[in-house]
Amino acid sequence: NGIRSITTASPSLTQAFSAEKNTNGNYLVTLIPGDGIGPEISRSVKEIFAAAKTPIEWEEVDVTPIIKDGKTAIPESAITSVRKSTVALKGPLATPIGKGHVSLNLTLRRTFNLYANVRPCRSIAGYKTPYEDVNTVLIRENTEGEYSGIEHEVVDGVVQSIKLITKEASERVARYAFTYAQSVGRDRVTAVHKANIMKLADGLFLDVCRQVSKEFPNIKFDEVLLDRACLHITSDPSLYAETVMVMPNLYGDILSDMCAGLIGGLGLTPSGNIGRDASIFEAVHGTAPDIAGQDKANPTALLLSGIMMLKHMRLTEQAANIEQAVFKTIAEGNALTADLGGRASNSQYTKAVIDNL
Ligand code: NAD
Repeated sequence: NGIRSITTASPSLTQAFSAEKNTNGNYLVTLIPGDGIGPEISRSVKEIFAAAKTPIEWEEVDVTPIIKDGKTAIPESAITSVRKSTVALKGPLATPIGKGHVSLNLTLRRTFNLYANVRPCRSIAGYKTPYEDVNTVLIRENTEGEYSGIEHEVVDGVVQSIKLITKEASERVARYAFTYAQSVGRDRVTAVHKANIMKLADGLFLDVCRQVSKEFPNIKFDEVLLDRACLHITSDPSLYAETVMVMPNLYGDILSDMCAGLIGGLGLTPSGNIGRDASIFEAVHGTAPDIAGQDKANPTALLLSGIMMLKHMRLTEQAANIEQAVFKTIAEGNALTADLGGRASNSQYTKAVIDNL
């Protein structure tokens, strides 16, 4: 029926999920509703998941930051919940720009060592965009690089921000990218870098990718400069439909938003933060403060993140059912939210998805 999956899980994704069903026959899943539009889109996901009879019991936790020993911390109850469930669906969290508390997103990634951020972007049949053949998968190193948070003022007017690249973290994410490629039937891994400029940092990342590629003789390996990759993807996205891109942290953050723009925007793009002991799924977008509390937000990105999560939990039947309902609703086109050019509210869109289950 032309409906294709955009949220395939991988074997190492499923390794991290070892929780057992509770006495009611449900899996415990931590839900972090988040800030801004987070609570509205979380409500939508909960309604759709309930209508689809997913065997999930949500444990809702608050992650309002607390200051502990002068540092920002996440409430212990949230940490305990994720440790117990090993899987969480998370709404966006506001991060103050410049001064203020450390990003809670970063804190969560560090606490659970969520080392790989998987961001698939695939054109949705029936939703018209300049290209209809976007099918990118981007894996972003999630723990270091430009986001290592090591910054200081050298003298007044001069600051340094350290980009940290380690062999260990590069190896871990590169191996994950190859394993992911193998599991979803992609025959190539492409390392995206700027080793021409950052010879040592990106040089190390690239070198590790080359080494790891030797462990996977059935998967081709190639390399591309970040700027060249942007040019390629925006000129002919089909060039990247067979590969899995892997890259340092900041590049992945930016390039994935670019890919999102090609398929219809941030309202449609899911992601998974994969760690050894837990995994947290979340939309790529932020808190959208401009539309928060107005029932205007598109819940699809969080919903697709939830579908990635269901696949990770091996609840493939429920995942497929919800996914077809989402794509059918978008293809029908009469309950689209404003970001997709429609006039439906979040609630109306949610109802349309439920009717299509
Ligand atoms: P944003 O993604 O929140 O919003 C960018 C634009 O996209 C806005 O116009 C917004 O209305 C629109 N948009 C985003 N999601 C949408 C949706 N689901 N439906 C309809 N429209 C949507 O980016 P921003 O404004 O740069 O960031 C706002 C806050 O979110 C900041 O504090 C930022 O740090 C935070 N943020 C958090 C995360 C996260 O928790 N993972 C990710 C990105 C940004």
